[in-house]
Amino acid sequence: MPSTQLKEAIDFAFTHGLMKFNPAGVLTHAPICLTPYRIAPDLNFKLYQVTPLFNQLMIKVAGDTAWLKDKLRDSAKSDPFIQHLLTCMPDENSQPLKLLLSRNDFMLEKKPDGVLIPRQVEYNTIAASFAVLSHKVWAMHRYLKKQGKLTSELFENRPDNGFMQGLAAAHAHYGVARGCVAMIVQPNEANIFDQRVLEYRLIEQYEVPFMRLTLKEIAEEGQITEGHLYFRKLLISVVYFRAGYDPSDYDEHAWRARMLIEHSSAIKVPEVSMQLAGTKKIQQILSHPAELKRFVQPDHLTTILKTFVGLYALDDQVYGQPIRQTASQNPEKYVLKPQREGGGHNFFGAELKQKLNTMSQNEAKAYILMERINPPTFQAELVVDHQLQQAECVSEIGRFGVYLGDEDHQHINQDVGYLVRTKAADVNEGGVCAGYACLNSLEITFSAA
Ligand code: ADP
Ligand code: MG
Repeated sequence: MPSTQLKEAIDFAFTHGLMKFNPAGVLTHAPICLTPYRIAPDLNFKLYQVTPLFNQLMIKVAGDTAWLKDKLRDSAKSDPFIQHLLTCMPDENSQPLKLLLSRNDFMLEKKPDGVLIPRQVEYNTIAASFAVLSHKVWAMHRYLKKQGKLTSELFENRPDNGFMQGLAAAHAHYGVARGCVAMIVQPNEANIFDQRVLEYRLIEQYEVPFMRLTLKEIAEEGQITEGHLYFRKLLISVVYFRAGYDPSDYDEHAWRARMLIEHSSAIKVPEVSMQLAGTKKIQQILSHPAELKRFVQPDHLTTILKTFVGLYALDDQVYGQPIRQTASQNPEKYVLKPQREGGGHNFFGAELKQKLNTMSQNEAKAYILMERINPPTFQAELVVDHQLQQAECVSEIGRFGVYLGDEDHQHINQDVGYLVRTKAADVNEGGVCAGYACLNSLEITFSAA
């Protein structure tokens, strides 16, 4: 790729806020891939169709709080974070309307007959990010195409619109004219450009009042009056969590704030039960057809099950010890995962082996073991910190979903777009802000990739 094209991409990124703070706190363009990821329309459609099924599944799981508590009991014993989240769950349903802004992550795997099938990596119910930056990277690719610098036919991508419509609709359903949407943020967020656009457009286009607040601020100045959440004198209609998924987001005050929010009538995105439904432990449990059946209509069971790879509990009475041994002998075939979000927590290869061999039976309760997915590799051009790199890469596709509904009525349940992250094939983790992966778009291909 000539340097003028590299410059075009970087100029577009800077001009349109396709940006992030790097781990050293320096403002730079987001890592981007200049080689769109090719996918056949029928496969893309399959992923698109599966989004509402997973949304509904997660809402059902979150609604069955007794089941959820039962299934997470053992993990909670050795993981204080899960324990703490469980204690925030109110006894009574404080708000019938549920809004879920989700992202279901997949990698494609090639079967021996050459057919590509989507395999789920994980389902994000809290702080699913990159709806805005995914749109911008698609816009950048479209610009390069218009300039004759890219030939790809791209799948359109506007997940930011879907997220905003979800938030605006939830706010309207809450039904108080002077209510305000509050986004809960980390004090030193690196990915603010992915958040700020939602804020600006909700205020300007949808005329929805909006605030960015930390859990600390809610702890200091939030209160519940007659069941409603107020910050200073402002009624909060929707609390949208872009923080609160990591133990480091919490101290004693922040836990108090979370408790306050969960017990209020505000629409929580997500409620703590929805957050817990998205844990890796629940993903592992739902991979058992007998458990999945509890929540899914029979005609959707196979569609969902087909996306799962092997998921195992290390403390399982019968299979725990054998699977531990198998994984320890073949560490390259598995991923070891604790109940954490946000990247950088999983164990691969030699570290997985070491961790498996040294963890106690009690510690093992907080982890799950997952078969490693091996997507096909392709040559791609990555732009990281102004530098162009050629690498043999793999991609991960996230499908953004929006669900808004109550017991009686589903107002919204749809797929609203995608995230593609492309990274060198020899890199284990997938985070964009952590610097592992580059944002990308989907290219329509009519031949098998
Ligand atoms: P987190 O919640 O921290 O994002 P993930 O389960 O999404 O955790 O894992 C982080 C990254 O690790 C993924 O984006 C992916 O790149 C890689 N990964 C996770 N599970 C697998 C797997 N089963 N096979 C291959 N790569 C995986
Ligand atoms: Mg992830």
